[in-house]
Formats: sequence, structure tokens, C-alpha cells
Amino acid sequence: VVKVAAVRVIPVRLRFAQPLRTAQGEFAERVSVVLEVRDAGGAAGYGEAAPWPGFGTESVDEAEASLRAVERLLPGASLQPGEWPAALENLLSGRSAARTALQGALLDLDARRAGRPLSAHLSVHAGSTCGAPLSRVPVNALLTARDPEALFREAVLAREAGYRAVKIKLGGEAVANDLARLQAVRDGIGPSVRLRGDANGAWSVRDALAALEAFARFGLEYVEQPVAAHDIDGMAELRRHAAVQVAADESVASEHGMLRLLAAGAADVVVLKPAALGGAVRALELASLARQSGMRVVFTHAFESAIGARHALHCAAAWGDADGIHGLATAGLFEADVAEPPGCHSGSVAVPAGSGLGVTL
Ligand SMILES: [Mg+2]
Repeated sequence: VVKVAAVRVIPVRLRFAQPLRTAQGEFAERVSVVLEVRDAGGAAGYGEAAPWPGFGTESVDEAEASLRAVERLLPGASLQPGEWPAALENLLSGRSAARTALQGALLDLDARRAGRPLSAHLSVHAGSTCGAPLSRVPVNALLTARDPEALFREAVLAREAGYRAVKIKLGGEAVANDLARLQAVRDGIGPSVRLRGDANGAWSVRDALAALEAFARFGLEYVEQPVAAHDIDGMAELRRHAAVQVAADESVASEHGMLRLLAAGAADVVVLKPAALGGAVRALELASLARQSGMRVVFTHAFESAIGARHALHCAAAWGDADGIHGLATAGLFEADVAEPPGCHSGSVAVPAGSGLGVTL
């Protein structure tokens, strides 16, 4: 039982090192909310609410309002990890980002008190995983150059840096241009580094079938979100007929979407963001359901600060897939961060081996 002595809500505003261009527009900064929970002994746990447009969570303002209510309600309460009083449940109903923050902070605190890394703590609490927690999590490099020559150089650098998977955005231009870009990347990384594409919902089913047919010769591991997030039937059709394996990303940003996709068996791979799914415990449960349906699981960040990024890292480590390569390379994303972001060396990120999350503000 954790007796909560103090709670602090910390609004966070971070500047992207490079403005982030997405289907929702261009973003210069990332706004989120960090939650700190302390016990009577002064030990602290940290979580983060990191809503993002299109991920299906509440807004940042709504998450902050919920966490301000938690700040008033929680001090003095005794909590059984994983079991919350009804008042708290009601407060966080439909607020998956705020729920992620509170659950993350309590799990971090609990793991610190138990004297073990959060990943080890999660693997005990999360039920069925692939194996023992990992001490390093392999990650893919995101290659961002537009033209093939620059992309080739970026690909060579990624291979030399030790990455075993790279990812590029596809579908933003004509298929012929994407063919030239894929050729440049494959030439740069060689035959054994995994090549991943991400179309962010750019195509119709028909266009996706044609594009993936043309791309198959580059040995793509998978292409994320070839069609729009809501088009689960289209994803299912592509899983059956496309020449390249398909991954669901935006389609499974919310728990509702994930359950729809699972029921339809509509992807070979699911890309899960613990931040949007109510936290690591639920994300690991959903990952386990996906695995039982024959899908592979890749964990990714949701542009969180160093707090949320570490939570996603411990979650991927707890999943314990020795063959998995995740979307968790976050170093250098922001001009400055609330703490040192997890660093990447030789294509993988070390999981903090101390107790809890491994970071304190
Ligand atoms: Mg994606």
C-alpha cells in the first residue's frame, strides 16, 4: 500500500529542435503535463500526460484539469497499486492521457520502493510477455531527407552508427519518387538492415495495393498505415492481398481502435503508443492480445518529454521481445527537456538499471 503524501502537477512546454511536420500540420513545440507523486518518506514517482491531435485522447487542457483534481484528491490517500478508489476512477473515465500520468507515477513510485527497475516491475504486473525484460531496447532510425542522394548518405550513416532498422515516410509524393527514395535507402543500408515505411494514411486501398506491389522488391519489413486510420476494412484487405506486410499505427492510437483492429485481424504488425493507451500496463495487455492474434508489436513514443519517453522505454523492455526493434529514438527531438532524454548508442537505448523510472526532477 502506498500512502500518498504530496502531489505536484508540472505543465511542460518543450521546443522541437526541428519543427515537426505531420498530417495535422506543423508543430514548433510540445505541450504536456508531468505528474509527481511523493510518499511520506519523500520518495517520488513521475508520470506524464501527453495528448496529441489524432491519437484520440482528451486535450492537454482537459488532462491538466483532471490532474489538478487528482492533486486535490490524492494527498493522504492509501492506494493499492492497480486498485483505485471509485472517486479516482470516475475522475479519469475517458481521460486516457491523465490516467497514463497517474498510473505511471504510481508504478514508478512503487518500483522505486521495491528497489527494482520499472521494466522488471511491469513484467511482473503485466502478465504475458515475450520473455525476460531487456537491458537494451533496439530502436529504428528515422531517415528524413527528401531527395535520394541525401537519403542515401543518411542511410549509410545509420548503418555505420549500428542501427538494425531504418524507417522512411512514403506516400507524400508520386510512387516513382518513392521508388527512387527506397532504392537509395536500400543501397545505403545494404541487404540486412530492416527497412520500414510509413505512409500515414496517404493512399486508397487500390493505390496502396499498386504502391506496395512496386515497393516489394526493396524487401520492406512492413509499411505503416497505408490507408486512413478509420479504414479497418481497407487495412484487412491489404493484410490479405498486399505484397508487403502492413502495420497499423494511427488505427490503433486509441484502445477503441485497437480492439476494432484486433477483431478484424486487420494488420500484420501493430505500433503501440503506451501514452495514448492509458499507460504501460494496458499497452502490454493489448500487446499480448495482438500476439495471440499472430501480430507483431512495435512500441513507439508519442513525442513525450524525457519522463514519458522513459516510460515507453521501460514498457518496450518489459515486453521482452529479443527480436523487436522499436520506435523509441527520441534523443535530440527537443532543444531542451525536463531531464536528460534516454540516449541511443549502436542502434539501441540502454534501460536505466536503477530503481523505478531512473530519472528524478
Ligand atoms: Mg507511423
